[in-house]
Amino acid sequence: MRAQASLLDTANTPGILKVAVPIPLFGTFDYLIPASISPEHFVSGCRVRVPFGRRELIGVVLARADNSDVDLARLKPVSELIDKKPVLDERMLDLLRWAATYYQHPIGEVMEAALPSLLRQGKAAEAAVIKAWSVSEGTSSDDLETLNRAAKQKHILQILLNNPEGLDELYLNEHHPNWRTAMKALLEKGLAQCTERAGLPAAHPVTTQPPELNAEQQQAISAIATALHQHHIHLLYGVTGSGKTEVYLALSEQVVASGRQVLMLVPEISLTPQLTERFQQRMGCPIAVLHSGLNDQQRLSAWVAASTGHARLVIGTRSAIFTPLPDLGLILVDEEHDGSYKQQEGFRYNARDLALVRGHKENLPVVLGSATPSLESLHNVNRGRFQMHTLKQRARTQSITRIKLLDMCSQPMQEGLSAALLTRIEQHLEQDNQVILFLNRRGFSPLLLCHSCGWTTRCKRCDANMTYHKHKHQLHCHHCGAETRSPTHCGDCGSGELVAIGSGTERIESFLSERFPEVHINRIDRDTTRRKGALEDKLQQAHAGGASILVGTQMLAKGHDFPNVTLVGVIDTDQALYSTDFRAAEHLAQLIIQVSGRAGRADKPGEVLIQTHQPDHPLLQTLLHEGYEKFSETALLERQQAGFPPHKHLVILRCGAIKKELGLQFMNEARELADSYGMAEVEIFGPWPAPMERRAGRFRTQTMIQALDRKALHQLLRNWLPRLQQLKSSKQIRWSIDVDPYDTF
Ligand code: ADP
Ligand code: ZN
Ligand code: ZN
Repeated sequence: MRAQASLLDTANTPGILKVAVPIPLFGTFDYLIPASISPEHFVSGCRVRVPFGRRELIGVVLARADNSDVDLARLKPVSELIDKKPVLDERMLDLLRWAATYYQHPIGEVMEAALPSLLRQGKAAEAAVIKAWSVSEGTSSDDLETLNRAAKQKHILQILLNNPEGLDELYLNEHHPNWRTAMKALLEKGLAQCTERAGLPAAHPVTTQPPELNAEQQQAISAIATALHQHHIHLLYGVTGSGKTEVYLALSEQVVASGRQVLMLVPEISLTPQLTERFQQRMGCPIAVLHSGLNDQQRLSAWVAASTGHARLVIGTRSAIFTPLPDLGLILVDEEHDGSYKQQEGFRYNARDLALVRGHKENLPVVLGSATPSLESLHNVNRGRFQMHTLKQRARTQSITRIKLLDMCSQPMQEGLSAALLTRIEQHLEQDNQVILFLNRRGFSPLLLCHSCGWTTRCKRCDANMTYHKHKHQLHCHHCGAETRSPTHCGDCGSGELVAIGSGTERIESFLSERFPEVHINRIDRDTTRRKGALEDKLQQAHAGGASILVGTQMLAKGHDFPNVTLVGVIDTDQALYSTDFRAAEHLAQLIIQVSGRAGRADKPGEVLIQTHQPDHPLLQTLLHEGYEKFSETALLERQQAGFPPHKHLVILRCGAIKKELGLQFMNEARELADSYGMAEVEIFGPWPAPMERRAGRFRTQTMIQALDRKALHQLLRNWLPRLQQLKSSKQIRWSIDVDPYDTF
């Protein structure tokens, strides 16, 4: 009943459909067009329900054909045509096909990744109908007087008067908890009304005006704007606070005014709630926001708003790159160096790179922005593929941030903080300033150790220790997600003397609150910001001013504006300096520059102190004395010498197996197969154990494939992967291919 797509065969029949079905097998599957539906209704990009084995699945029509290389008697008809109009337009199908080939991922799963989950389940591509509340006809601010004795009702009526287009449930829940009783009263008094409408984003009045742009900003904007109707890639390289967002805004205004849509990718919206608001206040047009915090219905509505052209600006995370946009005119990728653009599971794509491909296919400009561009992008500037625009000045302050290393060797320490750092923290706090302490490790301590026998809290399923979360009395494995109660006694000798070794953010927080009892201490990491709105609350507290300390993980490095922070302490750099990953140095440099950008943004000069046991490390030295630009030059040279990306192209074959031997057998057979193609242009290394060999109960091995020539690499993959799928040894293990991997773990 099914077969891989093929052009061969001569059997002539009126209607075969090539359908992408969401299963982990390469190729499309053939189905018959049922006699009850006329063939021309089966347009590419429409969803169909198809029988598949004993199940029914929802697939996407990719093509109509006259023949199949499967015996027609074995083909089944599709059971239902779901869409009248395609949910994925030709351009999007083209991009997805390209991505499936490039990332060597089954086309059915690629199509699936592009669709909001309600569409995957076969729901209609329509925005939800939602209730909205607004003032009744004739209600005016005069009516407020009648509510002097009902403060809550008066407040809600005022809000409705301010928003004549009406407000929906979601907005009211979020911004005005407990609004319902007051609203009910307003309805009964005839002052407000409730209507139903499609849940699409509304246009908002423009409430802020652009600042006067400085020369660098103007230059960048006019250079980019001269060629808005053709493909061109720009790298906007601007220090934190240099006004990159103003450049995005100005370009977006132009593009939207010319009747086209803008797609802006951001790493993680929940981390930058202010950004969306800033666009809303400036743009006026309906804006669709797509991120992981939405429920399925909200996501579908935003997707519909974008793909019907209702929303003129779309702000979204990684997967938003797959949103069909009928009038797309510009793609912006903010913080282009950020790792969250790379999907690390399943369909392993990089949204930043796909933005470039989409820009090329749709012949439109792409702007990548960052204070710390990826080495890939800088390499492309060097090769003349990207045009670079630099913003060297901070827009609102001239103050320069001083970065200094603190040599930790033989220094007295308390919970990982050196005496020198503690003294500086104290001095900054005395001047009523704020301090950020950065540590990329959550929890209280990375392990518990038995003082009597040396037993540690290992994870049963990983080659790793379980992190101690003191407040919760739990151990968490940050690698496989395992959670247990924290032990009171050694698991080996039974001694009660368990010592917490090393410091995470929780421990630093608790130490500091003893050390500085009068100072407000705010911890920002994944543990303290799980609750919806918690991050916003914490950011707001930080904005309030007054002496305080923020302790946090890399969440702190992203996009937030902390105007009162004058000191940033980076507590631990050693881990990254010792890492074996080829991108570790780049990430550390980016992180240091990004966190440094959080200090001294207003009129107060900033200071950054970096604790390290390796003060002479060439990376740190170059970064501090010569800046990110020089660092990246050096790092690019090193990559070239080592034969790593972006100089050479890299692909990793990964395998995870419950039984080590089974994994090795598959990997050895895979290696033999690869060697048998005899491709001299391609280098193959491994198989060898992954840096963390056992994770979540699986033994992990990897093989690296490298080549200067991308074509050769892809030729190998095209031959190799279908064969891997057929290997008998592949059935008892899990394997995956990662094209342009983000890391080598
Ligand atoms: P980036 O995106 O590079 O971090 P932003 O665009 O957020 O920088 O700008 C940082 C701050 O400076 C913001 O508060 C912004 O409103 C302000 N700003 C940007 N450009 C100007 C300008 N030309 N004049 C005055 N203020 C500006
Ligand atoms: Zn684990
Ligand atoms: Zn013990």
